[in-house]
Amino acid sequence: MAPSCLLYYIGLNKKLKGLVHHCLFFDADFDVHGKEIYKTKSWPTDPLFYVSVSSLTDNTVAPEGCENLVLLIPVATGLEGDTEALRDKYLDRILERFEKKTGQSVRDAIIYKKSYSVSNFTEDYNSFKGNAYGLANTLMQTAIFRPSCRSIKIKNLFYTGQLTVPGPGVPPSLISGEVVSKEVLKDFG
Ligand SMILES: Cc1cc2nc3c(=O)[nH]c(=O)nc-3n(C[C@H](O)[C@H](O)[C@H](O)COP(=O)(O)OP(=O)(O)OC[C@H]3O[C@@H](n4cnc5c(N)ncnc54)[C@H](O)[C@@H]3O)c2cc1C
Repeated sequence: MAPSCLLYYIGLNKKLKGLVHHCLFFDADFDVHGKEIYKTKSWPTDPLFYVSVSSLTDNTVAPEGCENLVLLIPVATGLEGDTEALRDKYLDRILERFEKKTGQSVRDAIIYKKSYSVSNFTEDYNSFKGNAYGLANTLMQTAIFRPSCRSIKIKNLFYTGQLTVPGPGVPPSLISGEVVSKEVLKDFG
């Protein structure tokens, strides 16, 4: 299965300067974080992270003068100790780096905060070991090697979405709808 992630949904009572909609923080050791996700399967020591500032390109997602952020830290699946205290610790650490890199304060402007991680993926979606993205993108699980959109057990049962062909992500999931509709038409058209 794919890894999980630690997500933060943050509302700020001010606008940020010098940012773009998608920001990737590769300011820590990628190899160490990669090993912690895939090999040792442990909480990261100094994680890389992604920040989406959607209010920069869409003024309907935050009130005037405010900013809407989503922060994402990739983490391993099946992690124990996914507590609010641990999540707060990671948020503080990445926001400290964020502030240093962008030269502005953020932590004192937070007016909304929600987090989501391994235990939520398990509880809300019965996701195996709390993974966030379903089947991993390995060669033998790609394209024609993925589970078929046609059930091999029940006639007239079809599947669509990221777990079947062609694969994960929003564009492939949409294509999956097109693929399965053609298959259905072959039988019922
Ligand atoms: C944190 C995160 C970041 C991502 N970032 C990107 C990105 O930047 N770009 C990208 O392309 N993709 C991204 N993805 C992947 C992308 O979101 C998914 O591949 C895509 O949304 C899958 O679409 P889907 O329709 O197959 O499934 P989903 O969007 O998961 O839809 C399945 C729906 O079925 C509902 N459901 C489940 N069980 C039942 C039931 N029994 N009865 C009724 N309804 C049910 C669920 O509630 C859900 O609404 C990301 C995913 C995550 C988790």
